[in-house]
Amino acid sequence: MKVKHGKAIEQQCAQCGDTDKKNRKSQSEFLCLKCGHTDNADNNATKVIKQRTFEYLRSKAFLNGKTKRKKETGNVNQ
Ligand SMILES: [Zn+2]
Repeated sequence: MKVKHGKAIEQQCAQCGDTDKKNRKSQSEFLCLKCGHTDNADNNATKVIKQRTFEYLRSKAFLNGKTKRKKETGNVNQ
């Protein structure tokens, strides 16, 4: 399954969602200028990706639920 990720994942705060290239303190450090959230840059990016993936799947599930009733509870391959 393909999930579209935006460009600024590495600059987005997993805590408050603020995106700023200054949030990326260094290659390995993330520090949000807005909420002060600090994390390993890779950890933060992983969290952002998870959140985006979750939101994507949730919106998909929502749309599917609107257009058709899901009888099968197995895979929902697109
Ligand atoms: Zn933040």
